Amino acid sequence: MKKTLRLILGDQLNHKHTWFQEKNKDVIYFMAETKQETGYVKHHIQKVVAFFLAMRNFAKELEEQGHQVIYYQIDDMENQQDLPANINKIIEKENIEHFEYQYPDEYRLDEKLKTICHQLNISYKAFDTEHFYTQREDIATFFKGKKEMTMEYFYRDMRKKHGIMMLDDKKPEGGEWNYDKSNRKKWTGKPPITEAKTFNKNVTSVLKQLEAMDVKTMGRIDKDKFPWPTSREECLEVLDYFCKNLLVHFGDYEDALHTDQKFLFHSRLSFAMNSKMLSPKEVVETTLDYYYDHRETIDISQIEGFVRQILGWREFMRGVYWKEMPEYKTKNKLNNTNKLPDFYWTGETDMNCLKHAVNQSLDDAYAHHIQRLMILGNFALLTMTDPDEVDAWYLGVYIDAIEWVELTNTRGMSQFADGGIVATKPYVSSGSYINKMGNYCKSCKYKVSQKEGDDACPFNNLYWNFLYEKQDYFKNNQRMSMMMSLLKKMNKDTLQNHIDRSKKIIENPSDY
Ligand SMILES: Cc1cc2nc3c(=O)[nH]c(=O)nc-3n(C[C@H](O)[C@H](O)[C@H](O)COP(=O)(O)OP(=O)(O)OC[C@H]3O[C@@H](n4cnc5c(N)ncnc54)[C@H](O)[C@@H]3O)c2cc1C
Ligand code: SF4
Repeated sequence: MKKTLRLILGDQLNHKHTWFQEKNKDVIYFMAETKQETGYVKHHIQKVVAFFLAMRNFAKELEEQGHQVIYYQIDDMENQQDLPANINKIIEKENIEHFEYQYPDEYRLDEKLKTICHQLNISYKAFDTEHFYTQREDIATFFKGKKEMTMEYFYRDMRKKHGIMMLDDKKPEGGEWNYDKSNRKKWTGKPPITEAKTFNKNVTSVLKQLEAMDVKTMGRIDKDKFPWPTSREECLEVLDYFCKNLLVHFGDYEDALHTDQKFLFHSRLSFAMNSKMLSPKEVVETTLDYYYDHRETIDISQIEGFVRQILGWREFMRGVYWKEMPEYKTKNKLNNTNKLPDFYWTGETDMNCLKHAVNQSLDDAYAHHIQRLMILGNFALLTMTDPDEVDAWYLGVYIDAIEWVELTNTRGMSQFADGGIVATKPYVSSGSYINKMGNYCKSCKYKVSQKEGDDACPFNNLYWNFLYEKQDYFKNNQRMSMMMSLLKKMNKDTLQNHIDRSKKIIENPSDY
């Protein structure tokens, strides 16, 4: 075999990849922490720490298995801090004759690697990451010739194709494909929720390295209690904990919001999967096995809701990303141009729902789906924020934020900047939805039931103002027709009040 260099990116920590099944003295694996990757957006400090620790653990395990590994820590003297420079230097130094890499999940890195390879004067080859259920182009093939890409049809096809929760080739287990309607309970203190599975690691030394290298980050961290799983064993512990403690109510409270519960019954497995320490298949299979062994206590709606997120939404979002990039990243169909309010970076606002969701994001590098969609994303869209600004925040702040899954969720599902590729209508609401799903409003300075005056919930004014501002765009959208006809019937003074107050909120969001 030719002397080969194999690149492993920070989110390619797949222990089960066929690359690692054989040891070969002619193969060198290469991994690097670079300022290129810490600097393309301002990341949450916990995200940088989590990736670096997970990468270091992965490299150590490879070495323990007898593989040859070159690993550059962020402050390593040899580290050129950028991918092409590092690769070229190692190729020269180690007399490498052949280069291999796994397809990156991000368009940005995919392009970069293509360029690197075209400039090499040695042979090269790219490999699948062996992580996802689908290939990059499967969504485009599945929806070819269709007017709309509906996640539900894709999800059903995936269930059939992989024989997941199926009675035979055609019928879903339990008789229904989707139990979404029973996934909408408000959590009011019961059933009890066990504490999240965390690890309390001391991360002082990596923090010192980041500081010495002047890596700019956002968010907060407790150096003595780093909570995220950063090895495969720890990820498996989080998965096991989810099955035993949280799956039983996952579906019921999937959309719930609560001041005392940051994680509710959510799995906190997105980082474990997005870094590829766990594969979606093993997460789905392990939770399904647990469900089949505990059918007397776990309802089918709980497991179906969970499987749908991974087999359905996660694969669907990745497929849309690869189908639509690179144009997708520039879409702004609603022509929104406002700045993201400063309080997204500080948590300083009197709007209680936003205060909780932002502070939680800054404290934990985590917010669950409904906080991301119906509080943070809802406010950004209602205030007609530039999707570039919204994307930059989401791509930085969350532990699981990698562009292939962040972009379609943020620009698509949450901001409707893609004009309806991912969602058929914008996810906007007044305060009443937030009140219906949680208890934030009870301790808020603003009154959710009030629509006029200084005490009125800002979401109430912004909602109608948004519909008014965007009425031309949505005039032919069937799913918006009921709200548009209510807008038309609205008393002129009431509407004017919504418009006037919204103008003030949008001009000075940090005053609220
Ligand atoms: C505006 C916005 C931005 C988002 N950005 C990201 C992101 O950068 N990275 C990311 O992984 N997820 C993102 N999501 C999806 C979702 O919010 C997170 O996957 C989830 O909150 C992670 O927490 P969890 O592991 O506890 O999820 P759980 O609620 O326990 O769900 C289980 C798993 O399902 C998958 N999943 C659930 N919903 C989605 C979805 N909409 N798209 C893709 N996978 C999904 C995740 O892998 C998740 O770990 C975003 C959602 C919104 C609305
Ligand atoms: S009243 Fe309005 S701003 Fe306050 S928590 Fe409820 S929805 Fe949020």
